[in-house]
Amino acid sequence: MDAKEFDLIIIGAGPAGCSAAVYGKRGGLNLLMLGGAYPGGQLLLTNEVENYPGFEIISGAEIIDKMHKQLSRLGVEITKEDVAKIEKNDNHFIVTSKNGSVYKALAVIAATGARARWLGAPGESKYRGKGVSACATCDGFFFRGKEVCVVGGGNTALEDALFLTHFAPKVHLIHRREGFRAEAATVQKVKENPKIQIHVNFVVDEILGDGEAVTGIRIKSVKEENKSENIDCKGVFIAVGYVPVTDVFKNAGVDLYDDGHIKTDARSRTNIRGLYAAGDCADPLYHQAIVAAGSGAKAAIEAVNFVNLCK
Ligand code: NAP
Repeated sequence: MDAKEFDLIIIGAGPAGCSAAVYGKRGGLNLLMLGGAYPGGQLLLTNEVENYPGFEIISGAEIIDKMHKQLSRLGVEITKEDVAKIEKNDNHFIVTSKNGSVYKALAVIAATGARARWLGAPGESKYRGKGVSACATCDGFFFRGKEVCVVGGGNTALEDALFLTHFAPKVHLIHRREGFRAEAATVQKVKENPKIQIHVNFVVDEILGDGEAVTGIRIKSVKEENKSENIDCKGVFIAVGYVPVTDVFKNAGVDLYDDGHIKTDARSRTNIRGLYAAGDCADPLYHQAIVAAGSGAKAAIEAVNFVNLCK
């Protein structure tokens, strides 16, 4: 099959990919964006964003919608394709999508983001989609009038707990230690919310069910031996962080850190010439939409310079 040729292929259509596309397009590149089945990434699942400059409060989905509309005005098409393979032949990258399309480009920007991490607790995979979820924004609505649990102590868990109080009469927040990783302002809101009961120094022992759906959760103390509690609930929201989506780059020979993030230098370059990385797939530290957007711009500026040198 003849491969369609581009200057630049951007893989991922979250904040990093979108800002890379704005800079790449305005830098004069002929570019393709492979957005995956649900273009937009983790931000699509974020209910309220209060720390993106320019917006006092906005949903993640709205930010992504604005970014995609901006790209559409610039003439950038986002395809809903997932990447199966990346190879470098001489001076070109050959990118094959899971549906068999083959594309060729001088440069590639990896902006594949991250996906939710699971606990691996008994019952978790059995009841996934039957009360167990990693997305409060997507599934919270189904728990109107029902008690739910949220597991985790970061921004996602605490924001999920607050969001779920719009539906659930009571939300149990389960965290494995006393200190929270979330922003102080969010911790304060959670502590002041009468619908949220906080259980610190507890981990999930098992997610309980009747074979069809979740009926509760058993948590055990990390401080006191043999201390455990059963909580009746219909929903369990797991919010214990993210893992980067980088398998396709690993298979292409890109150097990764032990935790799976792509290694880049200060100019967004990976160990493969012409392949750049931006956003959460290459960010072991910050995981913020605004940081991802900034890093996408950096990667695209580098890619534009690189492509111009190649031509
Ligand atoms: P995170 O900050 O990595 O927090 C994960 C939480 O899960 C931590 O509290 C951690 O406990 C806990 N945890 C991890 N593995 C666990 C396990 N096996 N059992 C029990 N608990 C476990 O993840 P996140 O909250 O998803 O946030 C990811 C990044 O996105 C962060 O940088 C965050 O600031 C950012 N974010 C920002 C916003 C915002 O700015 N509005 C919203 C959402 C996310 P320990 O604390 O004990 O390690």
